Amino acid sequence: MDATPLEIRRVEDRELHIAWADGHRTVFPNTWLRGHCQCATCVHELTGQRLLDTDAIRPDIKALEISLVGRYAIQIRWSDGHSTGIYPFRKLREWCLCEACEAARAGSRP
Ligand SMILES: [Zn+2]
Ligand SMILES: [Zn+2]
Repeated sequence: MDATPLEIRRVEDRELHIAWADGHRTVFPNTWLRGHCQCATCVHELTGQRLLDTDAIRPDIKALEISLVGRYAIQIRWSDGHSTGIYPFRKLREWCLCEACEAARAGSRP
């Protein structure tokens, strides 16, 4: 599995599309990505517990700006003013919501 994105594209202000170097494609709804922010405000650093109330995320939330963080991650500035979240490519690839990846995850579950 290659977690190098060739292209990261915002689609209709609702989704983020990622094309990976190995040809795989991943689509994340904005609300889903915002809900999976891993920053210290959204997730407790020690317990990993989610502090963010995902019900409070606006369904029309937009990714205003996406910037690269080194060679391993992107940082997204959201329309709700939140911008501290960093999304490592490896995580994004792991989280892929497509049917094949969902099936692979289900199969590897003990
Ligand atoms: Zn956050
Ligand atoms: Zn996938």
